[in-house]
Amino acid sequence: MKSFGKSALDRRQVVAGGVALAAATLAAPAIVGARTTIAEAMPPLPYPDDALAPVISATTIGFHYGKHHKAYYDNMVRLVAGTDFANHSVEEIVRTTLVNPNRTALYNNAAQVWNHTFYWNSMRPNGGGEPSGALAERIANDFGDFGTFRQKFIEAAVGQFGSGWAWLVEGRDKKLQIVRTGNADTPMAQGLKCLLACDVWEHAYYLDWQNRRADYVAAWLDKLANWEFASRNLSL
Ligand code: ZN
Repeated sequence: MKSFGKSALDRRQVVAGGVALAAATLAAPAIVGARTTIAEAMPPLPYPDDALAPVISATTIGFHYGKHHKAYYDNMVRLVAGTDFANHSVEEIVRTTLVNPNRTALYNNAAQVWNHTFYWNSMRPNGGGEPSGALAERIANDFGDFGTFRQKFIEAAVGQFGSGWAWLVEGRDKKLQIVRTGNADTPMAQGLKCLLACDVWEHAYYLDWQNRRADYVAAWLDKLANWEFASRNLSL
């Protein structure tokens, strides 16, 4: 399991990541595409507010989507207004601002917009269980078995100190990896292919689970994880 964020990157690494990005752009997820326009960056939720209960209540979804995600979106729109960024995709904005100390606010808000849309699609009503097909084989090959993957994902989510995210990604070596990122940081910025994301900011679970982050993540994996979404991301 890896943990990385802005501070772990130097410019050389980011340039190298930018090279890898060209290939990654062609293999982007269909739902959260490699070129998400600002107008497309906050699509409607793919299910009703109450569809993920009892793991995530309608109240949590209402605040999380309607207040938190919306605030990141509104901030991004305000920060790009009148700049060249207004015509760029959200992915380009995130990757460009990652190493620009003058654009930290735009990086944080644009990355959170992208992360949240990815998170909404990483869940579905009656999801969870175990994946099938090629994704199941890849998880077995790279983690040993699904139970080991599940435990490592929960450990990554719980081990993220403070706010952040747990991800299943495909590394540049094509191996599946679990990574955790802090605050707004996202593996997408570094050209990694994201398959699935779990939000472990307290705003994602505190109303329903209080301080029991491990229980939230376990229920999230077991009941909500959208393995079809992850499989589509893997095959694209
Ligand atoms: Zn969130």
